Amino acid sequence: MDTNENDNHRNKRGKKTVIIIVCEILILLLLIGSYRIYVLWKEKQTSSPNSGNSTSQEDKSSAQENASQNGENESSDGKQEEVEDELSAEEIEAVKEQERLMQEEKERQELINQADQLALSYDYEGAIELLKKYQGTEGSYEKYTTLVAAVERLEKEKSELLLYGGSYQSVSEINHIFFHALVADNSKAFDGDRMSRGYNMYMTTISEFKKMMQKMYEDGYVLVRMADLVKKVTKEDGTTIYEEGEIYLPAGKKPFVLSEDDVNYYEYMETDGFATRIVIGEDGKPTCEMRADDGSIITGDFDIVPILDAFVEEHPDFSYKGAKGLLAITGYEGTLGYRTNDPESPTYEQDVEQVKKVAQALKEDGWELGSHSWGHLNMTTASFEVFKKDTDKWMAEVGSLIGPTEIYVFPFGADIEVTTGSYSGEKFQYMKECGFTMFCGVYKSPWMYIKDDYMRMTRRPLDGQAMLEFPERLSDLFDVKDIIDPERPAKDW
Ligand SMILES: [Zn+2]
Repeated sequence: MDTNENDNHRNKRGKKTVIIIVCEILILLLLIGSYRIYVLWKEKQTSSPNSGNSTSQEDKSSAQENASQNGENESSDGKQEEVEDELSAEEIEAVKEQERLMQEEKERQELINQADQLALSYDYEGAIELLKKYQGTEGSYEKYTTLVAAVERLEKEKSELLLYGGSYQSVSEINHIFFHALVADNSKAFDGDRMSRGYNMYMTTISEFKKMMQKMYEDGYVLVRMADLVKKVTKEDGTTIYEEGEIYLPAGKKPFVLSEDDVNYYEYMETDGFATRIVIGEDGKPTCEMRADDGSIITGDFDIVPILDAFVEEHPDFSYKGAKGLLAITGYEGTLGYRTNDPESPTYEQDVEQVKKVAQALKEDGWELGSHSWGHLNMTTASFEVFKKDTDKWMAEVGSLIGPTEIYVFPFGADIEVTTGSYSGEKFQYMKECGFTMFCGVYKSPWMYIKDDYMRMTRRPLDGQAMLEFPERLSDLFDVKDIIDPERPAKDW
């Protein structure tokens, strides 16, 4: 081997070593650089992950996501605090804002549920108004798509309603049915004593009443108030006149009025299986009391008020805007089962206060209250003096407790005038002075007159006499044999 060849070989080895060293240095530099970049990035990450426009919606939702994830971890290992420590004040604010927005959304959903509940009983105006008066952080209801959609849906349903459900041409075709206190204990009412026959004629049992309501509900009947049948219109000259009320219901529905007479729970009925008075239940709603066999007082569904309330609660579409029925009350044995006619009664003061409260609770629950005269007199044959004295007594002893009413239900269905035209006598003038403008008689089929300053209608009895003696009169409502209580005696008059 010559020296040249040796030199060449040494040169090559030197160069190779230098390249390796340079490469090693470069790799080292690269590693150091990467580490430094990683550390810097990490620092940046922990100090401000959402720098920039932190009020933007995306940031809010990412903060929300963090918050909810944290929430999931919270209970397990306390990571929540750890992460919360890492959230900036701005971010905590964003989370709170998000929570507030979610709360508002929840409130809007609840509002829609409330509106739907109103619409179920055909109060579309109330439902739509409820939604439209909403004010959120972003402004009126129109800013919220869920509310706008709900209003549109309700408006559409409302536009499909028909006057009287399309079932009647005029308000005068609407049925008004009536009852007396229901027989709660058949064995006591129909025990063969001297009162049995009267109960068989004029009363309806709880089982019959429930079947009637079920059948009428299935056939599309909907409870309305007397006050819904008319509307007061103020004319240009300032006078107010009555016109036909406008009741809008879905196609096929049939408005009707229900009333109960003599809601006084007279003393003679006490041992015959009837409720004894109306009280306010634990839920603040009116219910009934009755005397049990052992003499104790029990509370429950012993008459129309709590029974119909429960039925409407289960079927809100059986009631137009929460309407229930009309209770007609006399005065000679007090009011609603309280002996408020007797100032000598040891419980007089507390009974007076209780009647006021019960009457208020009834009205808030959708019931209307009316006069059935003080002494249950025949107002066709009563002289004006007798009529006036009776009316004054009712106003003083009953009207003063239950509050103003425009409704007068004639005892025995005996009208102040027998005319089918307009009232003209002094009894009517006196009725007007006392505030009575709606008068109810009795007839086998619907009949109504609406005059400028009053309305007058008849009611159909759904009692034992109607079922046993005139079942054909009820055939448009139901087949009596499906309704009649097997425990009711046969016709015995
Ligand atoms: Zn009566």
